[in-house]
Amino acid sequence: MFDYTAPDNLLANRVILVTGAGDGIGRAAAIEYARLGATVILLGRTVEKLETVYDEIEAAGHSQPAIYPLDLRAAKDEDYLELAEILEGEFGRLDGLLHNASVLGQRTPLSNYESRTWRLVMHVNVTAPFMMTQALMPLLEASADASVVLTSSSVGTQGKAYWGAYGVSKFATEGMAQILAEETENTSNIRVNIINPGATRTNMRAQAYPGEDPALNLTPEDIMPVYQFLMGTDSKGTTGQRFNAQEMRKPEPLPSDS
Ligand code: NAP
Repeated sequence: MFDYTAPDNLLANRVILVTGAGDGIGRAAAIEYARLGATVILLGRTVEKLETVYDEIEAAGHSQPAIYPLDLRAAKDEDYLELAEILEGEFGRLDGLLHNASVLGQRTPLSNYESRTWRLVMHVNVTAPFMMTQALMPLLEASADASVVLTSSSVGTQGKAYWGAYGVSKFATEGMAQILAEETENTSNIRVNIINPGATRTNMRAQAYPGEDPALNLTPEDIMPVYQFLMGTDSKGTTGQRFNAQEMRKPEPLPSDS
């Protein structure tokens, strides 16, 4: 496990948006960020799930979150601009952006892959985070130290049979993080890093490995240390790095020359 223990007030006064906050790893991260003092914007497509997370955070007495329903399949430029305007009016800045929402698509050879599913996966996993980051950039720039975290996978650095658009989308995510990290490094207070969660007990994992015993995998709560570290001030100055949530080893710098 990534070795980090967060102080209880790590995220006091920070405003953090989590995509896919209603379930799985995003849900755990949202609750954890609120526990550490952040005002969390819970963004996702299933309102009931977001409400359940909201209620859990409130019942625990953590900082009050906000719910922002948005379906990344359908959201357009104007929807992201509206999100930015609302956050600007409410908070004036954004200190953290966790791009966590993704869809798995089909597990099938490329020769059988449906182009409609391909486009959907690439849109939700790659194009939507690009559009959202672009719209929120002025708010991230308004933060004294903003952290953008993108979520990859082990199939995003090594091509693996039958992972189709999901695997390709994670390669693209790695590339987007590298580009954004270089573009922001010397010109802003924004840091950009990647997390590979590793096998984690969620609906997506069960969908990808239907025959697997879920109890073999760590829970989303277990893998939170790296999610905490990257959103708090202890990671200031850390940018362009890839973290494996379930490994102790030090982060690898992303390649800087191509
Ligand atoms: P999950 O349990 O399936 O949760 C995915 C979240 O994304 C859900 O809250 C889902 O909302 C949301 N989402 C999906 N499509 C959306 C859309 N169109 N608009 C808005 N929100 C949408 O998956 P997870 O396992 O927690 O995965 C989280 C991240 O970790 C993903 O980026 C995944 O690729 C990555 N990852 C996971 C594993 C693993 O073993 N679990 C391993 C490597 C990488 P609904 O619940 O409303 O559909």
